[in-house]
Parts: sequence; structure tokens; C-alpha cells
Amino acid sequence: MAAERLVVVGGDAAGMAAASQARRLKGPTELAITAFERGHFTSYSACGIPYWVGGRVPERDALIARTPEEHRARDIDLRTRTEVVELDLAGQRVRARDLGSGAESWTDYDKLVLATGARPVRPRLPGIGAHGVHGVQTLDDGQRLMDTLERTSGRRAVVVGAGYIGVEMAEALVGRGFEVTVLHRGEQPMATLDPDMGALVHAAMNGMGIRTVAGAEVTKILTDEEGRASAVATAAGDEYPADVVVLGIGVEPRTSLARAAGLPLGESGGLLTDLSMRVRGHENIWSGGDCVEVLDLVAGRNRHIPLGTHANKHGQVIGSGVGGGYATFPGVVGTAVSKVCELEIARTGLREKDALAAGLRFVSATIESTTTAGYYPGAAKMTVKMLAERRTGRLLGVQIVGGAGSAKRVDIAAVALTAGMTVDQVVSLDLGYAPPFSPVWDPIQVAARKAVSAVRAADA
Ligand SMILES: Cc1cc2nc3c(=O)[nH]c(=O)nc-3n(C[C@H](O)[C@H](O)[C@H](O)COP(=O)(O)OP(=O)(O)OC[C@H]3O[C@@H](n4cnc5c(N)ncnc54)[C@H](O)[C@@H]3O)c2cc1C
Repeated sequence: MAAERLVVVGGDAAGMAAASQARRLKGPTELAITAFERGHFTSYSACGIPYWVGGRVPERDALIARTPEEHRARDIDLRTRTEVVELDLAGQRVRARDLGSGAESWTDYDKLVLATGARPVRPRLPGIGAHGVHGVQTLDDGQRLMDTLERTSGRRAVVVGAGYIGVEMAEALVGRGFEVTVLHRGEQPMATLDPDMGALVHAAMNGMGIRTVAGAEVTKILTDEEGRASAVATAAGDEYPADVVVLGIGVEPRTSLARAAGLPLGESGGLLTDLSMRVRGHENIWSGGDCVEVLDLVAGRNRHIPLGTHANKHGQVIGSGVGGGYATFPGVVGTAVSKVCELEIARTGLREKDALAAGLRFVSATIESTTTAGYYPGAAKMTVKMLAERRTGRLLGVQIVGGAGSAKRVDIAAVALTAGMTVDQVVSLDLGYAPPFSPVWDPIQVAARKAVSAVRAADA
């Protein structure tokens, strides 16, 4: 019997995790796998780009988990620098263009995986395409930025956007000796936090010498006579000199192929799948990673949350399904961690505005504690904000800003959220304690105790 044909579009986390898992389950005589990647690299860690740019990871190739050659050695026909430009669902084939030669050809499939990731938002502003203006979505983007950084003798960098990619890139550029200004539209950096927690990030960044400008609506990138970016202009009439500009204004699902083919998309433009990551209504098409919406288990609705941790799990689930096994991805609770220089930032669950939008009545509790016993050398300050539902006391969300050792504590809250625990139950958790690791009451439990009191007071 002829081998089934699997076509994968997108050669990074979700796509190659799916292809690799399918290959583990089925050998080449049963399943022929062709994967298309329009860039040069496969299975790389985009998450590591800020640390390579900042010099903490010395080699670009350390970010590559598996090269195209390594995939080919596992019987995956990997075609790099080849872009899929059309999906023909009725004919079960994809049209691909070799980006070197421009030649196009059709490839037939029995099963299709769409893992095209996300597209960085690039507002249509004068000068946005100038030399020296960079996104950092793919490893190819990262390489282009590194080439600019190595060429420029100037030392002024402007980062547009203060989400986690913006703040991580600010740290990276500081690490390379740049004077960094972060321009962002919001009230505070890190809009994934409530503004009161974002204010702590703002203060800390300014303390690190990173200038952050709130309410800054970028209108134009000014260029010099050679067409290189020289400054960023804002609606307030201010100009921020720049030898390099990094864009971190967010991403949107890269689903233009899926849209053209009539596949189902959600409000965000992300593909809609069932729990086994099958595209809704299409038995032989799967999708995962940054191009899909995920179920937010706390808010009870679909959202676009582009994170590598989801993409890898999606790939695993897809590969199992494609390979004849069974796996599902139940959804997320919205956990994310990042850092800027010494400051760690974490969140899980709902912010105040998410809880309001979901129609939930809640209380919040904010506490200050330390990452280790207060007397232990190196103890760092840590602020925890916790949201709990009124009446039931159900945990709704946690945000953390603090020194080294703070961020990953959010995982306790992520587990509690997944289990649907109340803040009372969080107080009773048997967490580990010794002075080098935490105060005798873990900061998460200190916040939970305060939240318990707030729930009781609100309903007294
Ligand atoms: C700077 C940065 C830092 C990050 N840090 C973190 C972090 O700390 N933690 C975390 O969880 N996540 C992080 N992320 C997010 C994480 O990298 C992504 O969620 C993850 O890479 C998504 O994987 P993916 O396979 O869905 O998409 P991608 O990694 O975007 O891969 C999609 C691939 O598809 C290719 N492609 C697209 N269209 C086509 C086509 N038509 N034909 C052929 N190929 C195509 C693209 O070239 C790309 O290589 C970070 C992202 C960035 C950019």
C-alpha cells in the first residue's frame, strides 16, 4: 500500500513538533512527510532571540533545536526557503514557491498541518520599511537585526511597544551597550498586567536607565540621506533619535492562506480547532501554534495567545493525531513569564479588566514579600497581586513583579487555577520551605490569605 502523504506548512515549533511526533509513530513506508519553511531555519527558539541579541547566548545556532539536515535524516522532506502560497482543499494539494528560483509546484496531501505562526504588527507608517527598522519574529529577523547592530557605530536604540518582547529586547539592547528608549501607547508597560503592576515595571525600567515613554503614538520613522532610520516621531510632536528601531507591537495570527481557502477563523483571525487540534469541520487538516485561537479555561472563551509553550504542545498533540494516536490540548489559563534585566514579571489567569469583561465579580489583594527568607543573603522584593471571585472565593488570577526567583512561583497559581481551587485551598497547600527558597509563608500563600480576608469582607 502507498504511504499516506502528510504536508506541513511552517517549519518551527508547532509544525516540526507535529512532523517529528508523527514520524515517531509512523515510519516512512507508512507516512511520507513534506514540510515547507520559507525561512532558512527550522525548529529554532524565537524565545531565545533576545538573549542571543543581548550576548547572554553567544551563538545563534545554540537556538536551533533541529536543523533542516537533521530533520531530513529522520525521513522528513524539509524544503527551506519555500513558501506555500495557496491551499487547494478540494484538490488536496498545496502550491509552493521556491524563494530562490521563483519556481512553483503543487504537492498533494492526504493530511495537512498548518503551522504558519504569527505575523508581527507593522503599522503602515512613513519610514517603517527603512534600513535599521527591525521586527524579531523569526530567527531570520533576529539575524538581520544582529547584522545592523554589528554595522552601526551609533548607540541609540528605540523599541516601539512595551509588551514582553519589547521589554526583553530593551534588556538585550542595554546588554549590547545601547542607550534605550521604549515608546508605548498604553498607560504602563506590560499591558498583560493590571496598570498598578505595570507601574512597578515602569519604575524598575527607569531605574535601570531604560527610558519608557507612555502614551506615545508613533507616527513616522525619520530617515537620513541614505534611507536609514534616524529617529522616531510621535503624535505629541516629539522625536526620539535612533540608530536602530526594534518593533515589538504585538502579533496577529498568520492565516491569510487559511482565510483564502475558507477555513474557519475566530474573532482574532486565528484558526478554530477542536481539542485534538483538528481544524473545525475538516477531518484531515490540523493546526496549532501562533496561528490558532486557544480556549481560555478561566474566562471560558477563545483567545489568541501566541506562546511557544502552547505551540510545542499543540505540535505534539497534532503529531499524535496524524500518526494514528490520540491526544488533546484542553486549553490554557494564560500563564506567561518574562524579565527585564533583574526584574521578573509573571501572570496567570485574569486581569481586572478580563474579569470585568467576563462578568465576574471579584476582589483583589496585593502583598509585598521576599523571594527567600527576608534575612537570607540575596532576598529580593516581590509583589504579588491576586484576584478571587466574590462569594465562591475561586482563584481568578495572579500577577507577580519582583527580583530573581519571583516569576516561576506563578506556576503554583497556574496549577491552582487549572484545578479550579479557591484562595482558601491555596492557603492550605503544602509548599516547600527552607530559608534559601522562600519565607516560611510562600508569597503566593501570603497573597491568598489576604484574598481570603477580602472575599469574606466583601460578602459580610
Ligand atoms: C522575541 C520573541 C521572544 C519570545 N519569547 C517567548 C517566551 O519566552 N515564552 C513563550 O512561551 N513564547 C515566546 N515567544 C513566542 C514563541 O516564539 C512562539 O509562540 C512560537 O515560536 C510559535 O511557534 P509556531 O510554530 O506557531 O510559529 P513560528 O515560530 O512563527 O513558526 C512559523 C513558521 O512558519 C513559517 N511560515 C509561515 N508562513 C509560511 C508559508 N506560507 N510557507 C512556508 N513557511 C511559512 C515561518 O517562516 C515560521 O518559521 C517569543 C517570540 C518572540 C518573537
